[in-house]
Amino acid sequence: TVHTSALRGRAEIDLGALRGNVRALRARLAPGAGLMAVVKSDAYGHGALPCARAALDAGARWLGTATPHEALALRDAGIRAPILCWLWTPGDPWREGIEAGLDMSVSAMWALREVTEAAREAGRTARIQLKADTGLGRNGCQPADWPELVAAARAAEVAGTVRVTGLWSHFACADEPGHPSTAAQLDVFHELVAYAEKAGIEPEVRHIANSPAALTLPESHFDLVRTGIALYGISPSSELGSSADFGLRPVMTLTASVALVKRVPEGHGVSYGHRYRTPAETTLGLIPLGYADGVPRHASGRGPVLVGGAVRRVAGRIAMDQFVVDLGTGPDADAVQEGAPAVLFGPGDRGEPTAADWAEAADTIAYEIVTRIGPRVPRVYV
Ligand code: PLP
Repeated sequence: TVHTSALRGRAEIDLGALRGNVRALRARLAPGAGLMAVVKSDAYGHGALPCARAALDAGARWLGTATPHEALALRDAGIRAPILCWLWTPGDPWREGIEAGLDMSVSAMWALREVTEAAREAGRTARIQLKADTGLGRNGCQPADWPELVAAARAAEVAGTVRVTGLWSHFACADEPGHPSTAAQLDVFHELVAYAEKAGIEPEVRHIANSPAALTLPESHFDLVRTGIALYGISPSSELGSSADFGLRPVMTLTASVALVKRVPEGHGVSYGHRYRTPAETTLGLIPLGYADGVPRHASGRGPVLVGGAVRRVAGRIAMDQFVVDLGTGPDADAVQEGAPAVLFGPGDRGEPTAADWAEAADTIAYEIVTRIGPRVPRVYV
């Protein structure tokens, strides 16, 4: 149990918006393609279990996680939908994965050896999906090593230790419209799928598309798209369009209550390092959230907050647990008292900033803003 107060700071999670996002995404899918709700990293900070349930309820067919532990936790909570987990490390719980009926991604021979060994011990067939590196340069089997991995996986199928349920890959630059690597990755994926199918593998699903590809590249949809950020109502990149352009609604609203309001003279240094000095006598408001809660310190002096009827900037440095805004001396500011609401980000249609605005202020991506909201901040489902 984390003992905390929802007044100090809370992340309101609008599951109705999440369901609407699933429906908006499904309406864009190529015929025959299904939706995988990516709920890794606690559903990008939104809460894995409630988001998984809401996404399945709205028509997602699959769930996706990075680690096997995330997938096993969903099974423990009673989720029966197919779950693919893709980030395996030697010694990970393959046997538990097999017994829980997870789909386990295999990118290399070491992983195929560990999963077949675990299947033999369990006396069960493991569901595996072979992952190819078609050009991301991260996880996945290099095309040059694909024939060896495919042959070994096919032999394991014949021996009854595994069933290859999927062939898949991941894009590097689908968020940059027209980037040539995306078409090149698709070509390689087509070739590697054809190779594996010729070798006798009959996958249930072939998939490569993430949110940006799901939103803009129907030729990449195959049997399944794996959407994370779009599910949470955030556009993968402003270059592609805004959330509203895609009919998506941000799911998380981060709010706190003003903890202290005080009058200070001109020239007053604010927070560590005195990076802000009041230009005139003014009123300061203390917001009880800090970088321990995921408010990025890099946005010191820049992060936007809706408080007292206007968007104010963080004054000086963001500290571990708190930061300050300069409320000024106008009538709106005078009306702010302790307990007044301060909205860091939300959908953006009530004058509040968005996670994308914070990403810009912190020189990062909105994915990081929502995912890093810390455990002291209760998620309140609305
Ligand atoms: N597929 C894989 C393998 C991923 O690692 C991720 C997340 O990074 C996704 C899909 C979802 O990506 P997005 O949030 O851009 O939809």
